[in-house]
Formats: sequence, structure tokens, C-alpha cells
Amino acid sequence: MGTRIAVQLEAATSVQGNAAIDAVMQEMRRIDQRFSPMRDTSELSRLNARAATEALVVSAEMFGLLAQAHAVSLQTDGAFDLTFASLGRYYDYRKAKKPDPATRARLQQLIDYRGVILQPKTRSVRFSHKAIYLDLGGIAKGYAVDNAIALLQRRGVQNAVVSAGGDSRAIGRKKGKPWTVGIQDPRKPDAMAVVLPLLDSAFSTSGDYERYFVEDGVRYHHIIDPDTGDSARHLRSVTVLAPDATTSDALSTSVFVLGLQKGLALINRLPGIDAIVIDNRGVLHYSNGLQRQE
Ligand code: ADP
Ligand code: MG
Repeated sequence: MGTRIAVQLEAATSVQGNAAIDAVMQEMRRIDQRFSPMRDTSELSRLNARAATEALVVSAEMFGLLAQAHAVSLQTDGAFDLTFASLGRYYDYRKAKKPDPATRARLQQLIDYRGVILQPKTRSVRFSHKAIYLDLGGIAKGYAVDNAIALLQRRGVQNAVVSAGGDSRAIGRKKGKPWTVGIQDPRKPDAMAVVLPLLDSAFSTSGDYERYFVEDGVRYHHIIDPDTGDSARHLRSVTVLAPDATTSDALSTSVFVLGLQKGLALINRLPGIDAIVIDNRGVLHYSNGLQRQE
């Protein structure tokens, strides 16, 4: 996945603990093999290659995650859009490459989740036009973390935290105390902006400092605003707390695109979900559920 995976857990013996960690890593690899758009052999690549010409029947797992990504796209009015990569694929942050203005203008108009037609009855997927390219990078790591936690629970693990890049989920406690996670200071790689306890919940941070390059003083990073085709520039970092990591992952990317007002308004409408936003001046903002009760 091109991401750092971290697992901490409490087990009766080190043999059991190591076996559980191996199982998590195997599950991460399995998910990457199915959902990576970069691997020619992945199920997602098969869709990208063929779904514009015929309706393809997909695995239940693929259909489920596509349906969730589609639902978030709808819920955020396309701020999150599972077809963002129709344009986004022409950015290469490692090589400091971006699409030329004409390509950007043309493909930006083609980003539209409504062009992905999902048929639950036949579990099939079809694209309405050839330029559609799916990339589940805004939701798949959270999904992988949720699967890892479920797998640990099936093995009897009660206390653990699993992270894939900026997406984490915790169960139980660490030596009786809540697990804690930090939000990195977006402009100081070694500093934490906030540290929070995690009690049986998930936590995702999306930031403009993870994958980016700077050209002519402008920062190009990996979260694309489907309305402009450019990097979303309202914020530096968004952290979402939710019951599961699939939700927190998709919503952190969503709020990053929506910006402070619309983003927090969305989060405040959703029960059991909270957010911490760092705006582009470095100021912290909290959703209603995290405001101090006085
Ligand atoms: P990460 O965990 O990789 O840091 P984030 O949760 O911050 O990821 O989301 C960024 C990723 O989401 C990008 O690398 C890309 O794959 C995907 N993405 C970028 N823009 C959008 C968008 N508008 N809608 C959906 N997914 C997006
Ligand atoms: Mg995300």
C-alpha cells in the first residue's frame, strides 16, 4: 500500500502475539492485491480496464467497498469522489509531476461518481464513460484497519491498536489506560499538535504534508478538490474520530476537501462522529462533540 503499518497488542504469549501480527500483515497484503489501482492484476485494475465497455460482476468485497465509497460521494455532494483519479492519476507527487492546464480542465469535468453504476442485484459495475478511473485510496486503508481489528478480535485479542498510515483503530486499553494517538503538527514533522485518547474508536488524519511537492511556491498534495482539479487548499490537516476506520478515513478526506465551515457542518450532523481541523493559518477547530462542556 506504500504505507507504514503499525500493530500494538496485548497477547498471552509472544508466540500468540507474533502470529496475530503476521495474520494482520497478511490481511493487509491481501487487501492491497485486490484494491491497488497500480497493480495490473488487481480486481480494481480489471474494472478500470474494462468497466467502460461492459458491466462486470465483482467480488462481494469489492462491491461492498465501492458501494460505501459511492455513498460517501453522495453524502458529501462529490467532495469525496471515488472517480477523483480520472484526473488525479496524472499527478505524481514523488516525481513532482502535474497535468498540463488543458488536461486538467478537461478531466476535472469528468470527475463524477454518478458515472459509476452499481447494480446490487447482479453485483455488477459499469462506467458511463471511458475516462473514469477508480482509486479507493481515500477509504481503503481505513477498511484494511477495520478488517485487521476484526481479525484480531476473532483470535481473542482484546487490547490492540492498528494503524495504516494516518488511519488507526483501537480496542480495549494499553495496560489499563486508554490507547493514545497524536495529530502531527502539519509544519513540524517531529511535533505533535494534539494527543488524544482512543476508546474503542477509530481515528484518521488527512494532511497536506504527507505526499506533496512545491512548485513556484505552491504546494501540490494528494487530496484533490473535484470542483477545481487542484489540491484542496483550505486546510492543513483534518482528523476524524468515528466508530470504525472506513468511516473515519473517508470522512477525513471529505472534510479536507469541504473546508472548515462545510466540513464541520457535515460532521456536526453525524451522530457519534467528531473532527479536529487545522486551518491554513495553523489554528485548531473542533466539532461540537469535542467542545469543552461547561
Ligand atoms: P492517506 O491515508 O493516504 O494519507 P487520506 O485519507 O488523507 O490518505 O486521503 C488521501 C487519499 O485519498 C489520496 O492519496 C487519494 O488516493 C485519495 N483522494 C484524493 N482526493 C480525493 C477525493 N476528492 N475523493 C476521494 N478520494 C480522494
Ligand atoms: Mg482519508
